[in-house]
Amino acid sequence: MPEPDHHHWMNRAIELARRSPPVPGAFSVGAVIVTADGAELATGYSREAGPKNHAEEAALAKLDPADPRLRHATLYSTLEPCSERATKSRLPCTDRVLAAGIPAVVIAWREPATFVANCVGVEKLRQHGVQVLELPELAEAAMSMNRHLEL
Ligand SMILES: [Zn+2]
Repeated sequence: MPEPDHHHWMNRAIELARRSPPVPGAFSVGAVIVTADGAELATGYSREAGPKNHAEEAALAKLDPADPRLRHATLYSTLEPCSERATKSRLPCTDRVLAAGIPAVVIAWREPATFVANCVGVEKLRQHGVQVLELPELAEAAMSMNRHLEL
């Protein structure tokens, strides 16, 4: 199988993040779920389906949780999936990824301490056997639509 084109898909996620309506209290994030053979399964961006909606959440909501392709899929997210949410009744994206059985996550930058003191999304995913890859070379582009938040 050819090596997946991480840059292509992360750039797609960055493009999605630009569609997020900017708000002062949260980052704009984009996410895309890709099958093992390189087909786009679903996309999402911050606040796509409501003011508290996260990118990964929006993408996963478009799929049947029992979709067998999720067991071999890769989730590309511009930002580290959250491990905690301000609204406690809403499941963090890290838990959603684990529940979906997605085995691989690619991110461009880690959650800074701007809104969440200590995000452990990457650590938690790895603890559960999810392969996490970071693309620091695309972090700058992934942050570009969040400049107003003064990181
Ligand atoms: Zn989240």
